[in-house]
Amino acid sequence: MAKYDHIRESAYEANIQLPKLGLVISTFGNVSSVDRKLGVFAIKPSGVPYAELTPNKMVIVDFNGQTVEGTLRPSSDTQTHAVLYKHWVEIGGIVHTHSIFATSWAQSNRDIPLYGTTHADHTILDIPCAAPMSDEMIEDNYELQTGFQIINCLTSRNIRYEEMEMILVGNHAPFTWGNTPDKALYNSTVLESIAHLAYVTEQISPLAKRLKESLIKKHFERKHGTNSYYGQS
Ligand SMILES: [Zn+2]
Repeated sequence: MAKYDHIRESAYEANIQLPKLGLVISTFGNVSSVDRKLGVFAIKPSGVPYAELTPNKMVIVDFNGQTVEGTLRPSSDTQTHAVLYKHWVEIGGIVHTHSIFATSWAQSNRDIPLYGTTHADHTILDIPCAAPMSDEMIEDNYELQTGFQIINCLTSRNIRYEEMEMILVGNHAPFTWGNTPDKALYNSTVLESIAHLAYVTEQISPLAKRLKESLIKKHFERKHGTNSYYGQS
């Protein structure tokens, strides 16, 4: 039906970027795109190869994770997306990948330390790694609880989802979000780059120190501060 075409299209366009950007292999990973007015999001169908995706194959789902329109089963991670859309009312897109470096930090259950200015260009915080899921959460509704694990991690650290648009789920992999699917996708690319750089930094220098505050502040504010001067806008 035409009323969902815009989110089908944006979800499709973002999903097919995942393998091109080297963020996924096989059928792993998923992107969703929300329409707040309609109270639904479009998400990749489960287990369909990227080369076979079309906008029409995107599944339309509500914020309780129930399929509203579509013949295919939605991504197995749909409940996680639904929980995040329900609680974080400003986000427009969500990406989940098992990209190599970000996932390796998640598997190590470590925050990604802010080692350099590339990281500071995007955030003044270490990239948080949520604790691994408890047995109770895993045995309950695993994907739904993954969403709450993400929300609770940020809440417990007093981090707003608008200021930190990426997270690692311990033992699992990263999730990113943004005001559009494209921004969420960009954040996944940035996260993978930050994770890669931090890994190599620790290989070269196991005692590497966190970037000093003056440089963190300088780099973040020249891009995002009230007197930002990075770029042309
Ligand atoms: Zn996953």
